[in-house]
Amino acid sequence: MKRFHETGATALTVRLNFNEQYFQSMSLPQETTCPGCGLRMPQRQSPTSANYYNTSDECWDLYAEVLGTEYSNAVLFGQVHQLTVDAYAVQHAGGPHPDKSLNIHLSGLYLALEKGIRSPYIPPLLQQLAEAIEVWPHCEPPTNRASRTVFDVAFCDSTEDHIRIVREWAQAVWQSWSEYHADVARLVSSNVRID
Ligand SMILES: [Zn+2]
Repeated sequence: MKRFHETGATALTVRLNFNEQYFQSMSLPQETTCPGCGLRMPQRQSPTSANYYNTSDECWDLYAEVLGTEYSNAVLFGQVHQLTVDAYAVQHAGGPHPDKSLNIHLSGLYLALEKGIRSPYIPPLLQQLAEAIEVWPHCEPPTNRASRTVFDVAFCDSTEDHIRIVREWAQAVWQSWSEYHADVARLVSSNVRID
């Protein structure tokens, strides 16, 4: 019996040591902060992602995962895919992110959240906008960040949760841009025909 206890204690000690080392290796070397959404993640080792959003590679990886989930689930794709694309783009304004892209995605959020247009009907309207405008207004990203990020969506474990969290995320991102709501509404109403 004594031997059993001793063995148990040794195994436990080994496990505790292992956990400690694991967490040290997770938190020590590097943590990155996404310049767009502020998400902090352990730094990955793979090569840099090619995109023009103001994002960390780690945040971009999560976004790619979320897109993969939405492409393989017809309900998600139909209900919230456009919201995901627009929320992510708008939350990663600044840096190399071009004015054209930012304005188009802000307009996508406006069409969904203020005009109630469903996800699949938004891309053709954004296309009209893209074709109508040559010089795009410049918008400065807000200093207050939305509390939700793509991280919250990536770890949803049901379709219902995914839909709910994307809607909350998109709403929070749109809200953080309230200073530009009137400008976006004007940009859309003077260039897009909404039936
Ligand atoms: Zn980010």
